[in-house]
Amino acid sequence: MAVIDRVKRLISKGRKGAATLEFVMILPLVILMCVVVWQLIVAGMALWEAQSALKNGVRLAASSGSAKEAEREGRSSFQGSDYYSLDSYKVEIKDKQAIAKAKVKIKVLFMSSSPITYTSSAKTPLYDDARSQLAGSMTLAGPLVTSGGRFGPPVKNMNVTSSFGMRFHPVKKVYKLHTGTDFAGGVGTPIYAAGDGVVTRAGPSRGYGNLIIINHGNGLETWYAHMFSHQIGVRVGDRVKRGDHIAGIGNAGYSTGAHLHFEVRYNGKPVNPMPYLNGG
Ligand SMILES: [Zn+2]
Repeated sequence: MAVIDRVKRLISKGRKGAATLEFVMILPLVILMCVVVWQLIVAGMALWEAQSALKNGVRLAASSGSAKEAEREGRSSFQGSDYYSLDSYKVEIKDKQAIAKAKVKIKVLFMSSSPITYTSSAKTPLYDDARSQLAGSMTLAGPLVTSGGRFGPPVKNMNVTSSFGMRFHPVKKVYKLHTGTDFAGGVGTPIYAAGDGVVTRAGPSRGYGNLIIINHGNGLETWYAHMFSHQIGVRVGDRVKRGDHIAGIGNAGYSTGAHLHFEVRYNGKPVNPMPYLNGG
């Protein structure tokens, strides 16, 4: 950038007086630029979160037929920050369509003016198939009988869409460890317990949407994430058997499409689940 080059040149030449003068003029400009960039980042994050909350709301309303529950889930999927917040959020079902509306307030950082508001909405037709699938998913199907690895498959068709390991996070835009394996599947696709154990967690968890943890003993746990709360078929303290139908695939939390995020944790640390599923 020209401004920075100029500053550097002035410093390297040791023209102290001139450099000081230039700094006095340039510094406020640089600060203003930083604030503007920060403002754009904040606005971008706010809009992204609003879109994601709208998507969560309409998808859940379309699949469950319950606007009230969808509104609660959608609203709770919006995390907000010091710089922006959800002003209003509504989900309704009208003419066989799920409609979500959100209004976000974004702080203006460089002036003491009133916040910017951003209003957006999303719409999707109700999926009757998905709804009957969800209704059916809670009358738990027979256990899935499997053989092979230490753990049985958490879904019938293990269609991996993202593997365990370092990856560019699609939501947070940074490189970080993907702590599990993602399996594709439509909303409501049955999720099975990977092994015998005790449920130690079954409920909301930041980022995961909702999370089920099964403790299998010997330092091993399996984690199941992104289902909507009404899709959870187990409670903390439940004893489950390998292959038991415990939940349905959802799209809650940091999720860019319906899928199961499945983790194996050994002594608290996430490890690659695939060797546990494939054999040995
Ligand atoms: Zn994942």
